[in-house]
Amino acid sequence: MNEKGNIMEGGCHCRAIRFKVVGDPFWIGACYCVDCRKISGSPYTVFAGYKSENVEILTGTPKEYASSEKVRRSFCEKCSSPFAYTYVETSSEIGKLFIPVGVFDDPSKLAPKKHVWVEQKLPWVHIENKCMTVNLFAAGVIIRKDGKFLMVQEAKPDVYGLWNWPAGHLEPNESAEVGAKREVKEETGFDVELECEIGLWPRDDEPNNPTQRKKLFLGKIVGGELAVQKGELLDVRWFTEEEIRAMKDKLRSCWVLEGFDALSKFGLDK
Ligand SMILES: [Zn+2]
Ligand SMILES: [Zn+2]
Repeated sequence: MNEKGNIMEGGCHCRAIRFKVVGDPFWIGACYCVDCRKISGSPYTVFAGYKSENVEILTGTPKEYASSEKVRRSFCEKCSSPFAYTYVETSSEIGKLFIPVGVFDDPSKLAPKKHVWVEQKLPWVHIENKCMTVNLFAAGVIIRKDGKFLMVQEAKPDVYGLWNWPAGHLEPNESAEVGAKREVKEETGFDVELECEIGLWPRDDEPNNPTQRKKLFLGKIVGGELAVQKGELLDVRWFTEEEIRAMKDKLRSCWVLEGFDALSKFGLDK
């Protein structure tokens, strides 16, 4: 067992089975499928996924039940608390263990980030945080150099003359990281490396739609030369933070100024 990382313990109701996990789960999701519903007796179950080498059973031996061809669910024989579900050897998911978060001693930090089998969800179960199933539609990059930031000036009619971070819409199945770098290259001519994620923002034209989000990164130039994307943009220029803050209504999106605020919050020096 890899001893690096956070250790969390848990076990069944009668304490015959005790276990510990090391490190953060690679996945936390709520499952709304009928199998989970029957076996838990609850409308849905939230599971934390771990590699089996990061899970150690300290006491007891969970009993196994084949809930479907490829899934084995284990539980305490005495008190019937669930322990985990795993996959059989023929599955590509072998070596992973999904533990219902309710059997941890302190599941308070194990909030679900994904929702699966939503099509089997009961109609009166409402998924509260729709951000969890966000559609990333665009990505942008804050690029800084010598105390200045790279901005692009839009040429499209509805946003003509407004300044923005280099950014654009993602192509189908394109990750935010790949799309962000591609947009910077197309718009400014520069190759960038992404240093970190700054955060998620809503669409400017649909600010109240919780499922539509764009992602902003911090990046640095690693190659290329300044070349303005003709037709799409009027200009590409470097500005200081003060100059950008003074632009106010000449900014395309709230994420320009909020991007600065997020940078400060992260303690990243500008
Ligand atoms: Zn028990
Ligand atoms: Zn399920």
